[in-house]
Amino acid sequence: MVILTRNTAVRHATSQQARAALARVGLVHEGQFSVNKSDEEWQLELNPQEFQVLRQAGTEAPFTGPLNTEHRLGTYCCRACGAPLFSSDTKFDAGCGWPSFYQTLAGDSVVLRSDHKLPGRPRIEVLCANCGSHLGHVFDDAPQTPTGDRFCMNSVALKFVPAESL
Ligand SMILES: [Zn+2]
Repeated sequence: MVILTRNTAVRHATSQQARAALARVGLVHEGQFSVNKSDEEWQLELNPQEFQVLRQAGTEAPFTGPLNTEHRLGTYCCRACGAPLFSSDTKFDAGCGWPSFYQTLAGDSVVLRSDHKLPGRPRIEVLCANCGSHLGHVFDDAPQTPTGDRFCMNSVALKFVPAESL
């Protein structure tokens, strides 16, 4: 797995807006993940859909994940390792069918990486900074939010912890 440095990622970002978004969120950094497990180990801990999304960069079908319509106060954690990633305070309804957030819980919660899997449509992939699991992508198409960013996350990649249980 290659984690791009911030400068590389910014260079790969195509639009002026995407560059600005990357500079603003400032989440790209190099480094080892704290949690390192084999596919076999992850398969024992995750169900098949979770494994496919988190460890094989899959995408759940839109409007299918339960967290898309979760509106309680709380924290969204990585389904794979439990690291806290997003606050319900920054969740918004983007209408895209996936849970969306305009910023991460902390500046170093996630790692960003250029994703060129879709021909002609470069995207920025979002990984858990603690375990390297795939969470979704970030887009700079949310001008209705304070940051303009839309962290478009797979519901199965996240675990919601309600505030009252924290
Ligand atoms: Zn994780």
